[in-house]
Amino acid sequence: MLCKKLYNKAMKNFYGLFSAPNHYNDGHPESPDRFGLLDETLERISGIIKLDATPATLDEIRRVHTLAMIQGLEMAPPGTIDHAPTYVTQSSYDDALLAAGVTLACSRTVGSGAGKSAFSLIRPPGHHAEPNRAMGFCLFNNIAIAAKDLLARGANRVLIVDYDAHHGNGTQAAFLNDERVAYLSTHQAGIYPGTGAITDAPHARGRIINLPLPAFSGDVVFRQLAEEIITPFVRRFQPDFVLVSAGFDSHWSDPLTQLGLSTRGFFDLSRRLIELADEVCEGKIIFVLEGGYDAQNVANGVEAVFLATTEKSYTGGVEDKSPYPEVDVNEDIQILRKLHRF
Ligand SMILES: [Zn+2]
Repeated sequence: MLCKKLYNKAMKNFYGLFSAPNHYNDGHPESPDRFGLLDETLERISGIIKLDATPATLDEIRRVHTLAMIQGLEMAPPGTIDHAPTYVTQSSYDDALLAAGVTLACSRTVGSGAGKSAFSLIRPPGHHAEPNRAMGFCLFNNIAIAAKDLLARGANRVLIVDYDAHHGNGTQAAFLNDERVAYLSTHQAGIYPGTGAITDAPHARGRIINLPLPAFSGDVVFRQLAEEIITPFVRRFQPDFVLVSAGFDSHWSDPLTQLGLSTRGFFDLSRRLIELADEVCEGKIIFVLEGGYDAQNVANGVEAVFLATTEKSYTGGVEDKSPYPEVDVNEDIQILRKLHRF
């Protein structure tokens, strides 16, 4: 009798990688330098498999963005396109198509059951890009394009959790009136882009949830949010796929923002989301990189997410606890629970 090698690909974790080296603007924080430590980090992590990808097609992009927006981006001369400032170069349009394509490779690999989880490590990022405009360093909304693709392939309910330090206004706009998609964003209050108030999207209570947080909210606050908001939200919505906008600018030492997560905090939050995906949707989850403007934080955060896919506890990981005291968010949590009827 032949001895079959026990190799279950469906239990493997995958990643896609595109650093867009030619999408670059001198001195701009959203640069290929953000990926500077990723190669050596990925080499160190055992058992993860890199996915091949092709650029997203026009039809796939059009599920989220208007034709006018897409054509405007294709024709835009190199330079700045908004006050964020968001920039484009000669290659940016093609780079953005490939970033979306890498994200689709990740969602399809997990959606088809060929992989357990995947992480789309791409730039330019996407969560600020609205259906009719690129903005906030973002060109095409990678995670929204992946969510639409999952729906087109038979998913009934998709959940997007966004722990970038900024509100994902583009993702919210893409699904404002789409009952099949739930969106939950944690972000620093009062910073760019100014959207994501606790009372946003009043017609979509219980489905679109925004948690603006005071500066220095960190591991303790996020642990509380995970238990008191995120867990009941996921259990009630019962998604059949979870997508995570992973922005490592919510690390306390990010140069652009002032939230308070540590690398261990990214592990804890990601681990909780993976456990919830295991509970409600056979573990179907992908992570999609958004912001994060310190290369070390990005590398550490990526490692923490991969660790969370395989380990229950954070042992041997980076310890870089925030030096700032945390703020009590109990009142906000109560308001939120009331608003969304938890
Ligand atoms: Zn951000």
